[in-house]
Amino acid sequence: YYNDNTLIYLDGEFVKANEASTDLYSQTLHYGYGVFEGIRAYATEDGTQVFKSHEHYERLKRSAELIQIPFDYDVQALVDATDELLRKNKLTDAYVRPLVFCDPNMTLARPNNVSIMICAWEWGAYLGDKQLRLTVSSYCRPHPRSIKIEAKVCGHYVNSILATNEAKDKGYDEALLLDSDGFLAEGPGANLFFEKDGVLFTPQLGNILPGITRATVLELAEELEMEVQQGLFKPNELFEADSAFYCGTAAEVIGIASVDETVFPKTWKDSLGRKLQDAYSKRVRETSNVLSKN
Ligand code: PMP
Repeated sequence: YYNDNTLIYLDGEFVKANEASTDLYSQTLHYGYGVFEGIRAYATEDGTQVFKSHEHYERLKRSAELIQIPFDYDVQALVDATDELLRKNKLTDAYVRPLVFCDPNMTLARPNNVSIMICAWEWGAYLGDKQLRLTVSSYCRPHPRSIKIEAKVCGHYVNSILATNEAKDKGYDEALLLDSDGFLAEGPGANLFFEKDGVLFTPQLGNILPGITRATVLELAEELEMEVQQGLFKPNELFEADSAFYCGTAAEVIGIASVDETVFPKTWKDSLGRKLQDAYSKRVRETSNVLSKN
């Protein structure tokens, strides 16, 4: 992720990654009480462009507010800092990781002071002809009355890691998690769509992370005049689907070949997902309406 020259942004300054440090008594380290983001930058004809940078930092702010972590940062300043970070590290196709973490505090009381760090590393765009083999996880997504499911909180990712480990140990590429009522929810780090008789279906907001890629896919589906239904769906409805895909900042749009024993009948190249994958790959590199670029 970094070498001797890599710079990170830490509380308003650019510092060497290998010299930056934090306190081992940070509340975030002990209790998972912190918030973060995952953002992608793409090389475009007009230079490096961070896709939906504002939306990601707005979600970071909302995540912090939802769990009562003080967030006194200016979103535009964070967007600008991200551009500067990419420039300083000469990164083009990159993944950007902001993290808001708390001061030393061994109690469960809310923190007075937090820090923000932003790091980035080269991560070429995934060229998604690979298709995933999923298994339905024995872990369900955390109940929305136990946590703030719509916030991107560090501690929530223990659930994602457990589900991922289980899927890999069983020989699958990825997990699919249901919510605590048995409805389809999402992947450990991606949102789910499936196609049946020319219509797209995706789990409604409420029990999932409101993905920024999911929102982009919904915009693209509308532009391409595809019908989309959001709702609560049971696993059976997925098993009877023609095709399916995951979407997320890191994964972009990636086809799903199978879920446990069920192989989707439609070949990926004929699916709605494939059309959206192409459209997404173009959209992230479009240079019109660019708010931040290097
Ligand atoms: N669900 C979960 C649990 C995730 O961690 C992610 C990745 N942030 C997503 C969905 C997709 O969100 P986004 O498109 O904003 O990356």
